[in-house]
Amino acid sequence: MKIYDTLSKKKAELIPAQDKKIGIYLCGPTVYDYGHLGHGRSAVVFDLLRRYLMFRGYKVTFVCNWTDIDDKTIDRANKEGIPVDELATRFINIYKDDFKKLGILEPDFSPKPTEHMEEIVSFIQRLFDKEHAYTLDDGVYFDIASFKDYGRLSGQRLDDLKKGVRVEVSDKKKNPGDFALWKFEKPGEPSWPSPWGKGRPGWHIECSVMSSHFLGESFDIHCGGQDLIFPHHEDEIAQSQGAGYRFARYWMHNGFLNIDNEKMSKSLGNFFTLRKAFERFAPLAVRFFLLSAHYRAPLNFSADTLHQAEAALERYNDFIQRVQEVINSKKETNKKISTIKSRVEKARQQFTEGLDDDLNISRALAAISELVKDSNILLEKGELSREGAEEVMSFMQDVDTVLGVFTFEREMLSEDIERLIVERNQARAERDFSKADEIRDRLTNEGIILEDTKDGTRWKRV
Ligand SMILES: [Zn+2]
Repeated sequence: MKIYDTLSKKKAELIPAQDKKIGIYLCGPTVYDYGHLGHGRSAVVFDLLRRYLMFRGYKVTFVCNWTDIDDKTIDRANKEGIPVDELATRFINIYKDDFKKLGILEPDFSPKPTEHMEEIVSFIQRLFDKEHAYTLDDGVYFDIASFKDYGRLSGQRLDDLKKGVRVEVSDKKKNPGDFALWKFEKPGEPSWPSPWGKGRPGWHIECSVMSSHFLGESFDIHCGGQDLIFPHHEDEIAQSQGAGYRFARYWMHNGFLNIDNEKMSKSLGNFFTLRKAFERFAPLAVRFFLLSAHYRAPLNFSADTLHQAEAALERYNDFIQRVQEVINSKKETNKKISTIKSRVEKARQQFTEGLDDDLNISRALAAISELVKDSNILLEKGELSREGAEEVMSFMQDVDTVLGVFTFEREMLSEDIERLIVERNQARAERDFSKADEIRDRLTNEGIILEDTKDGTRWKRV
């Protein structure tokens, strides 16, 4: 499998450090507010990566953190007059609930910096020992000039950074790009002990510490949104490699989510929370929408684009339903089984080839659509046998272990039943009794009983 590695800036063959095992670290949200569609996108596309690697037979260890201590969690907790941990727990539960609805597999580990304070402090000590850290009156800082590779991931040059990119305000810093490893205690803020004074960690240090805690000092893939490349991931690399680790071997970043072609932001008032999206759209339709574009491309959200995704997903689910009806029917036909078997094989190969190419989802989805199109032709002609339907269904189930969007067990909708009843009555009027019987059998298989009365046909579920 090839993936685009942000660090080497090219598609690279994914070769895990340990055969058939892959460790992934994804930067999770800061838990001070409701999750928005951008958080959903990052969670969904890297869930796709994880599921696909599992599909390809890798044992994946997936770590995604919750940032529970930070300026934002502290500010909001203070505004609400509650402890920071209470606020964080509330939003972690909301995120968990939203992510579950989006069909995201739970990470193997979901660490929080407040549970790794001693390790964070000893990590900073290591940076002092290697002369990368220095103390000012408001905290401990990382000296980016002491790390020769600073800027490699994001393409920022140290000289440019010296010209005053506003990263964190402190006049006394050696370089404007120097970032806080530890912030000294301020009134009304939670704090932890350290050799340099009571305080709390800067944002970046937690990911360096917790990724190596769970995945080792050199692990396979570090993921996150594009907006985290600089400074967050650049700073993680400086800290980890500064401390003497190799750190992540590959870096993957997902593209932005735009709303009506504008970057989503709170200030533009187009900040779309997952909760709001779920009020209007089924969560699995939102998932399908979020993964239907290539993960590195920008994705434009509008009511239209989501409706299109919803309709496309509905067509797949209808197809699955029809294939299921053929499987449920006792009727054996042996037509076209070799044709359908080779079509399924081809689709399987195209699906894998697509995702092997840096998760090319369009190619993977095209493989499915083409199979659906071909199978529909057979279905229309009544030429899809039970055996053929089983082949198709097993493909749909396999690809759904990766996509996680389809609905396999669905009660037939009332409008579908009524449509079939009209078709059956028409067939009877035309004295096509075998077709009429076929429709009745199809409904019976779905647990629908028909009753012909003088006022028309009634139906009920058994
Ligand atoms: Zn991070």
